[in-house]
Amino acid sequence: MNAPLRSEAAAEVPAESSATRQVLRRKGFPEAHFVGLWGGLGSGAACEHRGRVIESDEIEEYELVFVRHAETITLRFHRECWERCADPATSM
Ligand SMILES: [Zn+2]
Repeated sequence: MNAPLRSEAAAEVPAESSATRQVLRRKGFPEAHFVGLWGGLGSGAACEHRGRVIESDEIEEYELVFVRHAETITLRFHRECWERCADPATSM
């Protein structure tokens, strides 16, 4: 299970980066609202950045949680990928 890293990180983490918006648009949730960022060990899910699996024993996983109406959308990234995606100077 992932432990909460920062539950109110919206102010300090650029979760509304254009790269994240691109992923949301691709998934069909362009207007979803950011609600929180969670961190923990990899869950075995595929990273949104390039689809590589986030292994439970390797890299820290970041989960970005969004809501759209009653739906919850979770985007998972390797920490490394997330930091790259969150940097507006680099493209996905
Ligand atoms: Zn990744």
